[in-house]
Amino acid sequence: MTDGKRRIAVIGAGPAGLSFARALAGTDTEIILLERQPLSALSSPAFDGREIALTHRSVRSLCDLGVWPRIPPNEVHAMRQAKVLNGRSRFAMTIAPGATDQRPLGILVSNHLLRRALFEAVHQQSNVTLRTGVAVDQAQVERDRVRLKLSDGSILESDLLIAADSRFSQIRGQFGISTDIEPLGRTMLVGRVRHEADVEGAVTEWFDRGRTVALLPLDRGLSSIVLTLKSADADALSALTGPQLDRQLTQYCRGRWGVMSVEDRLHAYPLTLTYAHRFVADRFALVGDAAVGMHPVTAHGFNFGLAGAIRLAKLIADAPDVGDNQRLAHYATAHRAETRPLYQATRALVGLFTDDRPVAMAARHAALRIGASRPTRSALRALLMQPGEH
Ligand SMILES: Cc1cc2nc3c(=O)[nH]c(=O)nc-3n(C[C@H](O)[C@H](O)[C@H](O)COP(=O)(O)OP(=O)(O)OC[C@H]3O[C@@H](n4cnc5c(N)ncnc54)[C@H](O)[C@@H]3O)c2cc1C
Repeated sequence: MTDGKRRIAVIGAGPAGLSFARALAGTDTEIILLERQPLSALSSPAFDGREIALTHRSVRSLCDLGVWPRIPPNEVHAMRQAKVLNGRSRFAMTIAPGATDQRPLGILVSNHLLRRALFEAVHQQSNVTLRTGVAVDQAQVERDRVRLKLSDGSILESDLLIAADSRFSQIRGQFGISTDIEPLGRTMLVGRVRHEADVEGAVTEWFDRGRTVALLPLDRGLSSIVLTLKSADADALSALTGPQLDRQLTQYCRGRWGVMSVEDRLHAYPLTLTYAHRFVADRFALVGDAAVGMHPVTAHGFNFGLAGAIRLAKLIADAPDVGDNQRLAHYATAHRAETRPLYQATRALVGLFTDDRPVAMAARHAALRIGASRPTRSALRALLMQPGEH
């Protein structure tokens, strides 16, 4: 640190990298944000099919960061209650807010609107320099500085490096961090659908044989569908278009919501879960999916990424040395304590609810019936909707 400036390099201007940069607004840190995508992909992100279920805590954080007012109010949708269904059974376990809680279970916002709002806020920030269309190829610590080699051949130095470069982070391995990587052989298809039935603001999570269907209500007769299938089945379905796709989708849903029609197209996300063995190294920290790549079924990914980014930013905001090992270690311990139990619980839930052997079908039927009992209902509620304040 020759000139007394506190420089932080951030790899990745996805939701997590942007949240981290935003959380350091108003501090005297100098942030350089490096993103391999072009500027237009950040300033006008295209609709990607994802509707992000936000906790109340995340909404509050986005308000504090000055990001929430940038999301058009008519694009914000409430999740009033949730229903969990198993196979062909008509029984539905209903999860609703507590009797004294007037708030919905959570809030839905399209991922591209969230990304746009975060970008707009960060773009105006005086302590952030954005470099787009350039990837970080290599990074290493040399004499208390991090040295980065970029794809355009240039070299950068910083006091701390944040990798927010996705669950497939290339950089964390260069800092000696190994990661559990678990491809599930399943693909999520997501997109907006019109349907005949009125779902009255209720989210449905339906675990059926060979597939999982979630329906997230946006408007009367309009929802976001999240269909998880074996990857080969997902490839076959996404190859269809127009009336053929609509017919097949209606059939997949066994007519539960009447005739369905896809608004534009379905977007495919092959599922791979990741969990880094360490979140920090010398002058280095992982943020967002680069640290914890959750299964989207329980809607924790961005919520965790945001919480972690804010926690880390607060810890280093006033540090004389932003790469201080103790502060980084503190972040790692707290973020692991918050994410590890839910990561494991989500894997267990997915295991139980995607196992099509008769004994597993019976077990989850029983689990949902018992779900009428308080502990199971609270566990599922915390897992699926994360409405609380954790
Ligand atoms: C179908 C689906 C539904 C979801 N629903 C929810 C939900 O309801 N609630 C919720 O909380 N979460 C949800 N998530 C999870 C959420 O979308 C992710 O957690 C979040 O997008 C991760 O953000 P990120 O910034 O960590 O990573 P990313 O969005 O992957 O961004 C990483 C960025 O880093 C850049 N990059 C990578 N490598 C380099 C490099 N070497 N140099 C420069 N740039 C680089 C990439 O171009 C990219 O822009 C869902 C995910 C999916 C797939």
